Amino acid sequence: MALRRLAVLACAAALGAAGITATAGSAHADGSTTGSLADQLAQVQSLLGDGTLTPQAQAAGALGDTDWTASEQSAIDGSQYSCGSTELYDWLGQQAGPAQLMSDLSTYHVFDFAQYYATYYGNDSTPQSLGPNGEDTTPIHQEFKSLQKFWDVDGSKVQLVSMKGSILDDESKVAQVVELLYGVDQATADQVAPTFMDWAAQMPGGTDNPYFSFNLFAMNGSSIGQPDKIIVGDGVPDAFDALGLGMGVRIATAHEYGHIVQNKDGLRATTLTDPAEVSRRLELMADAEGSYYLTSAQGAAINDQRVESVARTMYDLGDCNFASTTHHGTPDQREASVEWAAGVANAVRPQSSVMTGVQFGQAFDQELPTLVAPDAS
Ligand SMILES: [Zn+2]
Repeated sequence: MALRRLAVLACAAALGAAGITATAGSAHADGSTTGSLADQLAQVQSLLGDGTLTPQAQAAGALGDTDWTASEQSAIDGSQYSCGSTELYDWLGQQAGPAQLMSDLSTYHVFDFAQYYATYYGNDSTPQSLGPNGEDTTPIHQEFKSLQKFWDVDGSKVQLVSMKGSILDDESKVAQVVELLYGVDQATADQVAPTFMDWAAQMPGGTDNPYFSFNLFAMNGSSIGQPDKIIVGDGVPDAFDALGLGMGVRIATAHEYGHIVQNKDGLRATTLTDPAEVSRRLELMADAEGSYYLTSAQGAAINDQRVESVARTMYDLGDCNFASTTHHGTPDQREASVEWAAGVANAVRPQSSVMTGVQFGQAFDQELPTLVAPDAS
């Protein structure tokens, strides 16, 4: 989580966000005013320390994969890989607030509050509104049902759960998350919650700002007594819409379901030892699983033009964090995985046949060295 937020800040810095100056205090409806950002920060520091989370919260944070979040662009060998900033990272950077505000929100993990809320408290016992205006609710549910039929694993207990920045408009929910993250009592959480709400409201677009909900991931919840979930943050479909990536939500859902197939079929087992390579294998496999489902005649049966759109989306999400435990593959490698799997789906005879999850995983592992080779593009 910390790594992700550093990346977010890097985006803001790259765009030359406003300098490090405290924002002026803001007026409340009752006529009272909050102090300056610096005064507020001092109060938060006195109550919550330097922002270090409890060990349990840190462990729960790791349940949220970084699948659709902006990743740090680190130094790479540009002669071998195409890995510049992509349009998705550029777009997110444009949504940043002033630098000091971004820094304070990041230090106290406020960008992750909605993710923690969905992880611990979100469930589908009430109707879930997916996407900024609920426009993705029906499409994602339909895709999910189709995925459950397509793959030979039991995904019937997996819940689709929304993740919305608007929890930051609800003082009791903010306090609930603060108690959880910092192990403080309710009185302390109640004291600090209005400040975090005030900070969130100062972001461009307020709590609807995509930084508060920029993730979409599959979660294995057994370690915290939660069901398995696919958590859908509003910020991700928001970005796909802004960039005209019309297949974005579909491949995102199919990719996440791919992780569920991996978990249930034991496909996480590998002889690889480097953590970045372990992560890359699982992520490229999920890209391929998603593409295989979308292209297969028995899956979503999308046409070539849409496969191209999926490949472009995954290219945009590639990263060059070769030393990171969350490395997902370079833009070229992600694009290549999508195209390889689409080819597998198109070549299958008879067209009605579908590989099992295990068969697909084995085929993918055979192809992996080719997909990650520098000339894979
Ligand atoms: Zn993933």
